[in-house]
Order: sequence, then structure tokens, then C-alpha cells
Amino acid sequence: MQLFELTIHEARTLLEKGEITSVALTRAILDRITAVDSRVQAYLTVVADHALEQARAADEQWAEHRRTGGMTPPLLGIPMAIKDEICTRGVRTTAGSKILGNFVPPYNATVMEKLYAAGGILIGKTNQDEFAMGSSTENSRYFTTRNPWDLSRVPGGSSGGSASAVAADETIFALGTDTGGSVRQPAALTNTVGLRPTYGRVSRYGVVAFASSLDQVGPITKDVRDAATVLGVIAGHDSHEATSVNRPVPGYAAALSNKSIKDLRVGVPREYFIEGMQKGVESAVREAIRLLESLGATTQKVTLPHTDYALPTYYLLAPAEASANLARYDGVKYGYRLEESNEMWEVMRATRGEGFGPEVKRRIMLGTYALSTGYYDAYYLKAQKVRTLIKQDFDKAFEQVDVIVGPTSPSTAFKIGEKVDDPLQMYLADVFTLAQALAGIPTISFPCGFADGLPVGLQIMARAFDEERMLQVAYAYEQATEWHKRRPVIS
Ligand code: GLN
Repeated sequence: MQLFELTIHEARTLLEKGEITSVALTRAILDRITAVDSRVQAYLTVVADHALEQARAADEQWAEHRRTGGMTPPLLGIPMAIKDEICTRGVRTTAGSKILGNFVPPYNATVMEKLYAAGGILIGKTNQDEFAMGSSTENSRYFTTRNPWDLSRVPGGSSGGSASAVAADETIFALGTDTGGSVRQPAALTNTVGLRPTYGRVSRYGVVAFASSLDQVGPITKDVRDAATVLGVIAGHDSHEATSVNRPVPGYAAALSNKSIKDLRVGVPREYFIEGMQKGVESAVREAIRLLESLGATTQKVTLPHTDYALPTYYLLAPAEASANLARYDGVKYGYRLEESNEMWEVMRATRGEGFGPEVKRRIMLGTYALSTGYYDAYYLKAQKVRTLIKQDFDKAFEQVDVIVGPTSPSTAFKIGEKVDDPLQMYLADVFTLAQALAGIPTISFPCGFADGLPVGLQIMARAFDEERMLQVAYAYEQATEWHKRRPVIS
């Protein structure tokens, strides 16, 4: 096995024993990037010197640990890739946009502070759809990331760079952000694990805001255990962030030792098996549900009757919030500025006109329209009410079952260019990942098979703050299968 193929827990065992060094591991990752990233195009920025410097410091800490014993932080010496939506002090953070093309944050996002404190080694920043708006990375203002399983296909989005970096072994793990599926859908399309935490579980301080009532940060990893480990590091209260919830962080990784899912009640919502979904996806998902049954879970049908409304609701609320959040990019305070004249409005108009790409402009216009006088009640307010109904669907279902299972994406990875000119088709890629975000509940996507040679993802949804249970189910499934071990041949 090559060093770059290791998971967090495998690498940690070897680092602990002194069988490998963090410098060697970091070099292996950097070499891997050199070997494949010109084809995969996962990274916007690679910080090799910074990474090696951190790795040397981690090796000293490991050496010290071997001399004197004691605890070591959970990610000590482990390379990581971070979505460019997340502020990294001293390292350019573009959010995939030209308007932040020259933005070097003077501070770290809270999740970055936590990862650094846990010993993580920053390798670089990953590509994404501009401001996390998209499902394919084709909306990046820089380039399109490729799916390592088939370079002519998208990796999903918006955290496609992070997912491809993990799938192509160009990092040990990554962070993404998920507003309506951007961690889970790319994970499903690349045979990786993606976890969206409960709203409020992880701080968004220092994360470029898209739609603040929906945005969450989540790990993309090679297996479920690693997802539990990273979630344990990044979760927790943050006094800088008003929506972050003050509640103890359970030992997510430790909770996995309870492997039995006997008598666990698993809900199967009929609304998640729709006309038009890819046949191979449906059969892989149904097969996975049968496996959960054979592991002792009891499945039962549940209904989430407002599922159909998740898409229109999301595509009103998310753009409405985005139109407000993106008002700050005016060429005055920071970021890109196009100075065509001395007149203030002219500078703003030119800066925003150039700085934002077409999808971002579309969302700002949709959102502004939905919030404008006369339309607010008909669109924005109505959508808020439907959001409540969607949340109540889950509340009711969770009275009967412990977790809910379904496909992550209606199809496997699509071709680059296939949907890019048809925004509605692109939005449909998210049909199964929007409702959980609107309801604020946690969901994990993990590998459950292949259809026509391309990965399929399964989602497990849980009650708010019940990430432990969700992880246990995913882990039980993973222990009984080998899908997550498959690696793409990058050609
Ligand atoms: N694809 C969805 C969108 O375009 C979700 C994106 C996300 O979760 N950031 O809004």
C-alpha cells in the first residue's frame, strides 16, 4: 500500500509506532498531487512549503510523545485539503470566485483553528463552484474539477475539489461545505464519505456565507471512522458564531465500537424512489437496504409528503439569503475592484459585473426578486412556511424510526457539459439532498455500490444532534462491505 492511500486511522497507527513520519506522508501526498492533479484538477492552491514545515513540527511532537508518552491530538501529522470557501490565514481563499481572487484572509475560520490545534497539516485549498452554488464544480471561475473515476465526468459539487482530492488520494481527508448537498452529492459521485452535521453543530465563523440558514461545514473522508474523527474535531460551540449550539460534543469515533444495529428502526421513504432516477442507482440502494436488514435492522416504509417541495423551497430561500450575503462584495472593503471611473456606483457595478459569474448573478437576481416588495409574501414567506412543513415531515417520521435511508443522488456522475446550460437540470441533481438541509438534520453519504462502473452513494439521515447513531449505522454497513475500499484508476 502506498502512503497516500492511507486513511486517518491507518496513518495515525503508523505514525504512533514511528513506522512512518508525517514528512514522508506529506511528501507522498505532494508527489501524488504532482502526478495526478494536472488531470484531476482538484486544487486551486497547494501550499507545499507550509505543509512540510507543519509536518516537521508534527514529527517532533510524535518523537516527544514516544519519549514521554501522554496524549497526542487526533490529527497529528495528517495531511488535509480544505474547500476554498473556508478562510485560511495567509492562504488565498477565493470561494471559487474572481471577486475574491486576491483575498488572503487575515484570520482562520474556527474549523481551521480546530483542525490546526488537532495537528492537521494543510496541503492546499480545493476547487468548488463559485460561492458554493452548483452541483458539478463547472461554476468555478477557475476550472472544472474532474471525477477521478472518469475524467470526462464531473465530481459533483459544490465541494467537488475536496471530493476528488480524497478519491484520487491527493489528501488523506478534506473539508467541504453543504448548503443543500454540497458535501454529500460529491461524496456519492466519487465513492467517498461525506457528512453534513446538524445545523448549529459546527461553527461557520470564517466560512464564506452563501445561505446562512442552511450552510454547514462537513468532512469528506475515505471511510466512516475518519468522518467520525474529523467531526469530533470540528464540532462544538463557538462564541463567535450566533447559530452555533452550546452542547457537549460526543465521542463520535468511540461510539463506533457499538457496532450492532440489531432492532434499529430504519425508515424507507417512498418519495426517495422516484420516476426518472437511474435504474442502477435504485438497485444499488435497494440492495444496501437489504443488507441493513440482514445486519438486524428492521425497515419500515415512512412518508415525507412534502419532499416534492424541497427543491422550489430551497431555490427560493437559498438565493434570497445569498442575495443579501453577497451584497458585501462591492469592491470597497476587500476583494477584487474594477475601477472604471471615480463614481462609487459605477465602481460597484463594474466590480460586481466582472467579479461574479453567471450562476451567482442568476441567484442574486432570483433572490432579490423573491425578497422585493409585493413578492416577499408570495415567495419568500410562503417558502418559509413550506420549510416548516418539510421539517415536520421529518419530525413525524422520526417518531416511528431511528434513522431514514435513501439515495444521495438520483444519478451517478454526469458528463462535463451535460447539464451546465440547463440550470433546472442542474438543480435536479440535488433532489435528495435539499430537504435535510431545510430541516437542519444531519445526514451522511457513503459508498453503497456501482452502476455502470460509477460510484453510488447511500444517505442515512438522523434526528438533530443524533450524529452518533447515524455514524453507527453507516459504520455497520461499511464493516460488512468493501465498496469504500475501491480506488479509481486515473487515466
Ligand atoms: N447544488 C446546490 C446549489 O447549487 C447546493 C449547493 C451547496 O450545498 N452549497 O445551491
